[in-house]
Amino acid sequence: MTTYRERAVILRKLDYGEADRIYTLLTAEHGKVPAIAKGVRRSASRLAAALELFAHVDVQLARGRGQLDVLTQAVRLPGARLAADPDRTAHASLIAELADRVSEDRHPIDGLYELTMLALNDLARDEDPRRASAYFLAQALEFLGYAPNLATCVVCERPLPPEAAFFSPPAGGLVCAADQVSGMLSVSVAALKVLRVAAAGDIGLYRRLKLAAALLDEVEAVLEAQVEHHLDRRLKSLAFLRRMRSPV
Ligand SMILES: [Zn+2]
Repeated sequence: MTTYRERAVILRKLDYGEADRIYTLLTAEHGKVPAIAKGVRRSASRLAAALELFAHVDVQLARGRGQLDVLTQAVRLPGARLAADPDRTAHASLIAELADRVSEDRHPIDGLYELTMLALNDLARDEDPRRASAYFLAQALEFLGYAPNLATCVVCERPLPPEAAFFSPPAGGLVCAADQVSGMLSVSVAALKVLRVAAAGDIGLYRRLKLAAALLDEVEAVLEAQVEHHLDRRLKSLAFLRRMRSPV
């Protein structure tokens, strides 16, 4: 069997058989790779400890005969560790689910591994976990080709004036005040600026932005509406986040 080493983020894990587990890895070189770790659920397994969900790991893989590669070694790489609080875990799940959904097995997307790493690292460090996840959402939309046009009104095609605009994914994006219809999300000038910085991928500038909770609410609403409009199946982690935000 051919073996290879890779750096990877663990997007998903699934118990399999008596003692095995199947992991979905987002690797630096090979894109998304499904891999099985045999016997990993036995108490003596050293592999299990390294293979935590959302962890950054150095792995050794053996090319399997079927779809799955075989995980033979894993070492945790240094970096910020995600605190085990439900809010951060829920946001990490959203990042991982989206990274999983935008990629096909063994078809690396340029920059996706780096973006996912960056978002999970910032998520571990930021005071407000929503910051990192909003940046990831904006960039994931760019990767998918579904990013909304943030410069012009989709109806009159004029540049958006420096005032609040309106947003509707079915209408195709942002709409100026003159063309808005009821039911559209209102987007303040400040929120538009944040969306533009995130869409441009300027992480240095994005990290310096002051993002109060109300501003993040607006940014999040636009990005989530856009993501949901373009993905045929709903994101499980997003539904979960919403239930956390407004428990009934
Ligand atoms: Zn217009």
